[in-house]
Amino acid sequence: MKLPLRGGCQCGALRFEITTKPMTLYCCHCESCQQQSSSAFGMSMLVEREGFRILKGTAENFAIPTQSKSIESGLFCGKCGTRVANDTKGAPALSIKAGTLDDRVKLAPVGHTWVKSAQDWMIFREDDLIYEEAPDDGYYALMSRWATQEFA
Ligand SMILES: [Zn+2]
Ligand SMILES: [Zn+2]
Repeated sequence: MKLPLRGGCQCGALRFEITTKPMTLYCCHCESCQQQSSSAFGMSMLVEREGFRILKGTAENFAIPTQSKSIESGLFCGKCGTRVANDTKGAPALSIKAGTLDDRVKLAPVGHTWVKSAQDWMIFREDDLIYEEAPDDGYYALMSRWATQEFA
């Protein structure tokens, strides 16, 4: 995986790039991520704000309260509705919805959050970092684990 990482929405009107090394990648199984992704979980890639840039189009945004009681702003394409990132008030990083990256086949999350609402059929790998709710260490362990991975 090489920087910059590029991605975009389903219709192509909104394109973005990531120019700094992502801080971590994990799956969130909270009810908000399930509903937002219309799937079993959301894949979050944390990226410093200055490392994220819109290349084409304009991101619309929508404010939603999260299960951990913060306000999150969802950035999405106004044409096709694909959510590309979440921006939580007060957080140092953006959460990029990793499924919108062009090169996503080899993405390997290092952990799982909010597994208390994970779907019953989910099977976690033995060495994954597992959190019942949001991590209480400021995502430190998730970032440390990710940092040990090779990333050019
Ligand atoms: Zn679109
Ligand atoms: Zn979530």
